[in-house]
Amino acid sequence: MNPYKSLGVNKEATADEIKKAYRKLALKYHPDKGGDKEDENKFKEATEAYEILGDKQKRAQYDQFGSTGKQAEGGGFGGFDFSGFQNVNVDFGGGFGDIFDSFFGGGGRQAKQKQGPLRGGDIEIIVHLTFDESVFGTTKEVEISRYEKCEHCKGMGNEPGSKMVNCETCQGTGQRIRIQRTPLGQIQTAATCEVCNGAGKIPEKKCRECKGEYRVLKNQKIKIKIPAGIHDKAAIRLSGKGEAGVRGGPTGDLFAHISVTSSKEFIREGNDISTSQNIHLLQAVMGDEIKVKTIHGNIKLKIPAGTESEKIFKLKGYGVPLVGSDLKGNHYVKIIVDIPKKLSKREKELYEELAKESKLNIKPQPKGIFG
Ligand SMILES: [Zn+2]
Ligand SMILES: [Zn+2]
Repeated sequence: MNPYKSLGVNKEATADEIKKAYRKLALKYHPDKGGDKEDENKFKEATEAYEILGDKQKRAQYDQFGSTGKQAEGGGFGGFDFSGFQNVNVDFGGGFGDIFDSFFGGGGRQAKQKQGPLRGGDIEIIVHLTFDESVFGTTKEVEISRYEKCEHCKGMGNEPGSKMVNCETCQGTGQRIRIQRTPLGQIQTAATCEVCNGAGKIPEKKCRECKGEYRVLKNQKIKIKIPAGIHDKAAIRLSGKGEAGVRGGPTGDLFAHISVTSSKEFIREGNDISTSQNIHLLQAVMGDEIKVKTIHGNIKLKIPAGTESEKIFKLKGYGVPLVGSDLKGNHYVKIIVDIPKKLSKREKELYEELAKESKLNIKPQPKGIFG
């Protein structure tokens, strides 16, 4: 392995450049990101390279001999144990953990915690709302199935009263070590013991309720408060309502994704509502007071004389509430003026008279074939 190549830096790179290069690679391939085996290997390689180049003495040694002392002793890849990143702090002894912590905000430690407490998973559900429910808010009861802390063993996995004994599989070390001989030397890999999850100890008797799994699957009814004005596709996060953690780890969260059925009467855009309303030609000409249906009930709207078709009236504050506020959007009503299509004999006479009065020399036509 050429650590310069691994980090993508040249031989003259400063300590700072090396640190930066490593940081970039480590962030990209960090196992916490859930990458594949190849990412894991890249992470190992970068970490190994940084272990050499990040240390003045080791770097000098590498530059001079093309290897470091440790590599000569341990054979293989420096005798480091890179498998199971939970061990990374331990393997690099002392100082390295600090670098990890500064890089990942405690990520180094977190990566180690496979054997310690684990946070429970998040649960995602979809909550369907009617249009009215989304506008005025409601409380929804949903049934979910989630892992909850086993009450019988208090989440510890052992039958209460049974003592902890050394794990036979790993002889209490929490690790399973494999030694592989390769042309490059001996490679030692250690993986977390899957029997004790790396704890090294297992209960003599597993909890009879959860079978040592710390948690039990339960159906639970949960009430979700839906605030007035919530939007379609919004999500509500209920902290700590997800799945129970393991070995004392925190509980995950519940995410309720909102799906709103649209209304047949009202069009919602943001917090505004829009509708359209037809009025008679005479109402438009002479003005009138009409009834408009809003989400907050019927209200009276004054149509001034001479209102043109497609005019939009704003009903301030008759829209949808803003979530968590007393404010509301507006209701916009578009007026459509209907032209009378069928006239009685009397109406016809009156229109003709009106035309005369308006000094319009019109030539009335029969209804069009398209009309
Ligand atoms: Zn239990
Ligand atoms: Zn074990």
